[in-house]
Amino acid sequence: MMEERYNPDEVEPKWQKYWNEKQLFKVTEDPSKQKYYLLEMFPYPSGKIHIGHVRNYTIGDVVVRYKRMNGFNVIHPMGWDAFGMPAENAAIDNNTHPAVWTYENIRAMRAQLKKMGFSYDWDREIATCRPEYYKWEQWLFIQMLEKGMVYRKEAYVNWCEKCQTVLANEQVEQDCCWRCSKPVEQKKLWQWFFKITDYAEDLLVYCDDLPGWPDKVTTMQKNWIGKSIGAELKFKIEGRQEDLNVFTTRPDTVFGATFMCLAPEHPLVEELSKGTEQEAAVAAFVEKVSKQERSVDGIEKLEKEGVFIGAHCINPATGEKIPVYTANFVLMAYGTGAIMSVPCGDQRDFEFAKKYGLEIRIVVQPEGEQLDPQTMTEAFSGRGVMVNSGQFNGMDSHAALEAITNWLDEEGRGKKAISYRLRDWGISRQRYWGTPIPVIHCPDCGVVPVPESELPITLPEDANLLEKGGSPLPTLDFFAKTTCPSCGREDARRDTDTMDTFVESSWYYLRYCSPRFDQGMFDPDAVKYWAPVDQYIGGVEHAVLHLLYSRYFARVLNVLGLIEFKEPFTCLLTQGMVCKETMTCPEHGFLFPEQAQKKGEGLGCTMCGKDVEVGRVIKMSKSKKNVVDPNALLEQYGADVTRLFCLFAAPPERDLEWSADGVEGANRFVNRVWRLAINCMANMQGIPPYGGAAGDLKGGDAKALYIKANQTIQKVTTDIEDNFHFNTAIAAVMELVNAMYALDMDQADEELKSVLWFSMENVLLLLSPIVPHFSEELFQRMGHEGLILDQAWPQYREDSITSDEILVVVQVNGKLRAKFNTAVDTDESDIKNMALTDPRIAKYVEDKSVRKIIVIQKKQTLVNIVV
Ligand SMILES: [Zn+2]
Ligand SMILES: [Zn+2]
Ligand SMILES: [Zn+2]
Repeated sequence: MMEERYNPDEVEPKWQKYWNEKQLFKVTEDPSKQKYYLLEMFPYPSGKIHIGHVRNYTIGDVVVRYKRMNGFNVIHPMGWDAFGMPAENAAIDNNTHPAVWTYENIRAMRAQLKKMGFSYDWDREIATCRPEYYKWEQWLFIQMLEKGMVYRKEAYVNWCEKCQTVLANEQVEQDCCWRCSKPVEQKKLWQWFFKITDYAEDLLVYCDDLPGWPDKVTTMQKNWIGKSIGAELKFKIEGRQEDLNVFTTRPDTVFGATFMCLAPEHPLVEELSKGTEQEAAVAAFVEKVSKQERSVDGIEKLEKEGVFIGAHCINPATGEKIPVYTANFVLMAYGTGAIMSVPCGDQRDFEFAKKYGLEIRIVVQPEGEQLDPQTMTEAFSGRGVMVNSGQFNGMDSHAALEAITNWLDEEGRGKKAISYRLRDWGISRQRYWGTPIPVIHCPDCGVVPVPESELPITLPEDANLLEKGGSPLPTLDFFAKTTCPSCGREDARRDTDTMDTFVESSWYYLRYCSPRFDQGMFDPDAVKYWAPVDQYIGGVEHAVLHLLYSRYFARVLNVLGLIEFKEPFTCLLTQGMVCKETMTCPEHGFLFPEQAQKKGEGLGCTMCGKDVEVGRVIKMSKSKKNVVDPNALLEQYGADVTRLFCLFAAPPERDLEWSADGVEGANRFVNRVWRLAINCMANMQGIPPYGGAAGDLKGGDAKALYIKANQTIQKVTTDIEDNFHFNTAIAAVMELVNAMYALDMDQADEELKSVLWFSMENVLLLLSPIVPHFSEELFQRMGHEGLILDQAWPQYREDSITSDEILVVVQVNGKLRAKFNTAVDTDESDIKNMALTDPRIAKYVEDKSVRKIIVIQKKQTLVNIVV
C-alpha cells in the first residue's frame, strides 16, 4: 500500500543522495552539444540562506533542469563571494578570525543549498577568499598596471568612518554608506583607480545592444554613465598663465557668465587665495564644507553658500574680468570641479547671485518678452532669443549653442566636448579581509609591481583585528616590510590596502569554467566553450555596481586578449523581492512572525499579550523582523513545496508576497498530484500511454483530455520560454490535473486509460524541473527505468492542440446557467436554438419573452440571453 501523502523527509534525501552519487550535475566541455551557462549571483557567506536566496536559486534551478531536458549541456556553478567587511565586523564582535567565521558559514550555507536539491556542479565551487582565486586577481592587476589601465593618485574619496574605509561612488547611496547607512565624508587619500572611464562610451553604446536585459537596468546604467554633450571653455586666470577649463552644456549662455564657482576641494582654491585678504575666510569655508554631505543629493538640500577666493578670471566671450568663488554646491567629482555661473539661466547660480549681490545679465529671454534682472524671481533656463551676446543677438538660443561653440573654437577659447558622470573606480580599501594589492613602494623606485613568480601575496592569517575596525596590515612588519624587487633596498613596503570586493565578483563567472586551473585566471579553451553566461539571475540592486563593473572587466580582459567577448551576461533576469507584512507590539516593537499569536479577531504579542498591529507588506528584512526562515519551511514542507510556492506566487521579475496560505496551497497541490498518480497506478499500470492524433480517438472524454494535455505542454513550454513565467505554467498544469480528477477512473475504458496515463506522465514531466524530488519518485514508481531528469522535454502534437468541438457558455441576464460542447462549425442560429432548448436554460426563459440573444465567439462561445 502506497502512502497517501508525499513524504519529503524520505523522498528528498533519497534523490539528493542518488544525484550526488551519480554526479549527474557534473559537466564537461562537449563540442557535440550546445552549451548553456546559467548563473545566479553568488552569495556572501553571511551564515544563513534567506528566502530571497531560495527564490533566486529556485528560479535558476528550474531553468537549468528545463534546458537540460531540452538537450543543452548546462553548466550551473555555485560559490562564495567571501571577502568583505561583515566577516571582519563579525570576527571583531565574536573574537574570532574572519577566515574561521567565513568557512564555517560556507559549510552551513552549502548544507542548506544541498537540502533544496539545486542542481549545482559542486566540483566547480569557488570561494574568492582562497589564495588560488585571488592570486589571479593580483596577476590581472599587474597586467593592468603595465598597460596603464590602473593608476594611483591622491584624491578626495568617499570615506565611511564607521567602516573605516573608502567607498567607490557606486557604493554611496543617498550620501550614505551602502553597507552601514552612515553618512559618507570626503577624505584625501592615495588610492588606486581602475580607468573605467576609458570605456564610458563603449559601456554606454552597448547598453542598447543587450536585448536580453531588462530596460530598467540598462537605463540605470546609462544614467549612471551620464553622457552630456556641450563645450569645454577656457577661462584665463588673471595674472597667471594657465586657464581654468569649464565644461558646460549651455555654451549659448557664456555671455551671461558673471562669476565662476570652484568646488571647495579644487586645488586652485587654496592656491589662488593664498596671500590674498580672502585666505582665512576661504580656509574656514573649506573646513566647514568638508564636514557637510558632499554628494549630488546632499548638495541639493543645502543652502547655497560660498566665498570669494580673491582671484578673477576672464570670460572668454566678453573679455570681462569676473570674480572666482568657491561654493558648496560644486562637486570636484563631477565635470572639472569648476562651473561658469550664469545667474540668468541657472536657478542655483541665480540664488547665489542674489545672496551675494553678483551681476545678473540676461542673455536668453523668451520670445516676445523682456526679462529684467531687478524684478525676475527665478532663472529662465528655457529656449529663447539671444540678447547681450554680441554678434549672436537675435539668434534662436538652440542655434546659438553650436554657433557660439564654433566661434570660441576659432578663437582658440573653447571646443565641443563630451562629459560623463562616470568616474574612475577607486578600488583601494583600508580593510583587512580582502585581496592584498600586489605592489611594493620603494623610496627609490616608487611603485614596483610584485614579480609574477611571487604571487599570490597571501593575506596573513596571523593578524589581530583592531577594535575600531581599521586594518592591522600596516602594523604587521612581517607582512609590510619587504625588499624592493627592482633595486634591492631593504626598507621597501608592501601596499597594505586590499582591493574592493567588487573586483572579485567582476570575473568569477570565468573562473567557474575551469575552477582548478593553475596556469592562469582560467583555461582559455574552457572559457571559449562555456562563456559568456547565457542567463544571469540576481537582484536589481546591483545594476550600477556589480553589473557595470563586470561589463567593464570583460572589456579589460578582451583588450588584454584573454577573452573574445565584451558582454559577460547575454540575458539578465532581475528577480523581485520577497515581501511580508510587519507586526508591531506597542511594548516590544517589531515582532518576528512566531512572536504573534491569535487573539480574538486579531493577533496578540506572545510576550506581553498586547494587541499586535499588522503593518504594510514590505521587503523582508532582519531589522523589521518580517522574515521567514527557509529552514523552518524546509522542515515543515520540504524542498519541493517550498520551490513550488516561490514559483507559483508571482512571476520571477515581480515582488513575491509571502503568505502562509500560499505555502499550504502549494502543499495541497503536491499531495493532490501524489494521490492522482497513485490512483492512475492502481487503475492502469501497464497500459501504454496514448501517442497518436486526437482525431483517432473515439471517446469524447478521451479526446478532450488528450487535447487538454497537449495544450498544457504547449502552454507550459511557451510560458517558460517567455521570461520564465512559471506561475502561469503551474496554473496550466493545475487545470490539467483538475480535468483528470473530473473523470471517473474506475469506469474508464482502455482508450481513456491510455490517455490518462499519457496525461499523468506529462504532468510529472512538466512539473519535474519545479518539484524534482517529487517527480523523480513518482516517475520511478510508475515503472520507469531511467530518471525523469534525463527525459526529453515533452513535445505536443500540432494535430492535437485544437479541438473540433467548442465550449458554449450560456448566461441568462448575465448569470452563468449552462455549458455544453458542440462542433466548431455549428452556425450561430443553431447555437441559439441549442441554448434556448437546453433543459437547464428552459426554466429561466419559459413564460418570459426573450428580448435579446447575444452570441460572442472567441476561444469559447458565449451566449447571453436577456429576458
Ligand atoms: Zn559604512
Ligand atoms: Zn627600489
Ligand atoms: Zn509585546
